[in-house]
Formats: sequence, C-alpha cells, structure tokens
Amino acid sequence: MEQGAEFDVVVVGAGVVGLATAFGLAGRGLRVAVLDGEGEARPASLANFGLVWVQSKALHGAGYGQWTIASARAWPSFAAEVREESGIDVGLRQEGGYTLFLSEAAFQRRSAGLAALCQQMPSPAMTWEVQERAVLARTLPDVGPDVVGGIYCPLDGEVHVLRLVRALTVAVQRRGATLLPSWRVDQVEPLSGGGFRLRGGESTIAAGKVVLAAGLGNRRLAPQLGLIAPLAPQRGHVMVTARLPRLLPLPTVSLRQTEEGSVLIGESKEDRPENDSVRPDILAAQARRAIRVFPALARVPVVRSWAGLRVLTPDGLPLYDQSARHPGAFVLSCHSGVTLAAIHATRLAAMIAAGQLGAEVTSFSAARFDVRAAA
Ligand SMILES: Cc1cc2nc3c(=O)[nH]c(=O)nc-3n(C[C@H](O)[C@H](O)[C@H](O)COP(=O)(O)OP(=O)(O)OC[C@H]3O[C@@H](n4cnc5c(N)ncnc54)[C@H](O)[C@@H]3O)c2cc1C
Repeated sequence: MEQGAEFDVVVVGAGVVGLATAFGLAGRGLRVAVLDGEGEARPASLANFGLVWVQSKALHGAGYGQWTIASARAWPSFAAEVREESGIDVGLRQEGGYTLFLSEAAFQRRSAGLAALCQQMPSPAMTWEVQERAVLARTLPDVGPDVVGGIYCPLDGEVHVLRLVRALTVAVQRRGATLLPSWRVDQVEPLSGGGFRLRGGESTIAAGKVVLAAGLGNRRLAPQLGLIAPLAPQRGHVMVTARLPRLLPLPTVSLRQTEEGSVLIGESKEDRPENDSVRPDILAAQARRAIRVFPALARVPVVRSWAGLRVLTPDGLPLYDQSARHPGAFVLSCHSGVTLAAIHATRLAAMIAAGQLGAEVTSFSAARFDVRAAA
C-alpha cells in the first residue's frame, strides 16, 4: 500500500522522544505521522524510573545542564498542555529531589564537582543545596544511619511513566497526527524531488521530513540517511514494593514512592548487556543498598521487577542531528527522554519545523563522534 506525501513529517518511534517531538510538531499545524514497530527490546519509555532529573546533568557539561534546566522549567506547562489535550494527568510532582550518599568521600566529591560546574553556567544557573545528614533528615526522617548527606535540587521531580506515554499517545492524535502502531520501518530513502520514502514490509509512506526517534533502533536507520547514531544499550533494573504509608516525601535518584504508595527502587547500570532480562543478583544488590538508605524497606515485599535498556551515546549526552547529505532527515536519541520531553515538545520541535537545529543544540551533533570531521 503506498501512502503519498500527505505528511509534512514522519516520526519513526512512538517512545517518549518521538511522541513528545510529534506533539510539538503537530501543535505547529504540521501534518504528522508517527510510526512504531517492534524494536529489539522493551522500549526504554515503558521501562524507566520516571524522574524529571536535573542535578546530575550539569556534571556532563554546562550545555547539557542548561538544556536540562530549560526542560525542567518547561515541564509544568507541558504537563498542563498534555492534560488539556488528552484528559490524562501525567502525575508530575516537582517539589525537588535528593541524591543520597553512603560514603563521605563520594558526598564531598559530588558537592565539589557541582560547585565547580555551576560556575561555568551562565544565568539561570542551577540551584541546589548540599545537606548534611542532620539537615536532610528533617525532610526525610526515615533515612538510615549510614546516609552521610545528600544533594537537594528544587527543580527535580517525577512523573507517572505509563500515564505519560498513554497521555502523549492520545494527545498527538487529538492534535491531528496519525499514529500507525504496527509499522516497523525497514528502509528509509531520500526522494530525488525532495522528501523521503519509508518502507516496512509491503507498505510505503512518504513525507517532506523524517525524524528518526526509534531509540536503539536508530543505529540501523540513521546510516541509511547519511547520519550516524553510535548508541549502546545500558541495562537498568527497577523493583516495585508493595504499597506502604508515606516513607519518601520526595524522590531520590534511586528510590521514589508513587502516589499509590509503592516504592520504586532502581539504580543499576550495566554496560554491554546481552539483553533486557532480569538478573536476580543485581536485584539483590539494589535491595541491600535501598535498605541501608531506608531501613524500613527491609520489612516490605517486592511485588514486581523488570529491566530495561538505556539509550546511551558514548558521552551520555543527547544526539540531535540533521543529515548534511539529505536535509530534512533528523536523528534524535537520548538518555533522559522523560526529563527532556518538555523541551523536545517545544524548542526542539520548533527547530525541526523550521528545518534548522539551532545554536543551543549544535554541541549535541554527531560530529563530536566523527574523527574525520573533528580533524
Ligand atoms: C531502567 C531505566 C531507567 C530510566 N530512568 C529514567 C528517568 O528516571 N528519567 C529519564 O528522563 N529517563 C530515564 N530513562 C531513559 C528514558 O527511558 C529514555 O531516554 C527514553 O525512554 C528513550 O525514549 P525513546 O523514545 O528514544 O526510545 P524507546 O522508548 O526505546 O522508543 C523507541 C520506539 O521506537 C520503536 N522502533 C524501534 N525501531 C523501529 C523501527 N525500525 N520502525 C518503527 N519503530 C521502531 C520501538 O518499538 C519503540 O517503541 C531510563 C531508562 C531506563 C532503561
């Protein structure tokens, strides 16, 4: 079946990156199609921890820090817009969050690192507080005796992951986008008269622009358009406890409590995993650390667990690029797709609509990985 170039933009991938970008593109009056077919693993958008997280991003450089801060600041209005279009509340709670430390050396290192990096950032700089144990225990009274201190950042927060994906899926369609959920793209090619044709099985679809937002699937699609996506999976495990009375008034980077009362535990990072299967030894290590941080968790059963694959570039920063050989073809990949959803729906979508990635994202181009270009 041939579907003509009735679309201004085709977005490949209906994870949070593709959906948030499509939401912004459709909001600019563009005719948008979002295609999604099965990837190699469970989509990261359904396996993640649900944090809107700023405080550690500055450690990867001032540019990433600024971009993340802008997204965190845009999150309340983004959540309101998504709720208005979809009727679904994504459960944004953005009252600040903590990184807690069990080692004095790590606490001091992180405090010093943040202070140094923040000085490089032009206004508005990130604000944070370094809190000794006695201070943070006023907010988190149930922390265990092994916690030596924490970093608090008021911009940090959390959302309900499954509701976010559901709400964006509804909202993009309410904005007029066409969602084709069983459409795996095998091939994408530029057309001689401009625009692109995508093929999947017996079907084809054409559009003026194409946005590759297929998570780890971008590795295979990007080279077809003269782009590179040097991505590697990193496995992370998440555990969910039975519901319990409020233990965590605010989220931490590895523990958070849902509205319903379950505590989510997740912090593992394994490079070069073979797949997204669950490893009991890693779950056990995560549980042991969680109990040191909040000893009350020792009495709470774990009811569910899963593992997912993070979408990581070699330096951990986002990858946003437009093909020099085939203008109109874009590739978007990032870790922290939840955190960055608000800026993807606003500034990044505006840049793609205008056909030009602006100065604030040029440092996220794949040219930084291209040895020839760098030379
Ligand atoms: C354990 C874990 C915890 C995390 N915690 C957080 C967090 O707290 N906060 C945060 O901001 N981020 C977090 N992340 C990262 C975040 O989940 C990802 O950055 C984000 O989900 C990436 O979204 P994506 O849309 O790029 O990719 P995906 O969610 O993988 O979606 C890509 C989509 O493309 C589709 N696809 C693939 N190939 C094709 C093809 N050829 N044709 C058509 N469709 C295709 C797939 O089916 C999939 O639906 C976490 C990730 C993990 C794994």
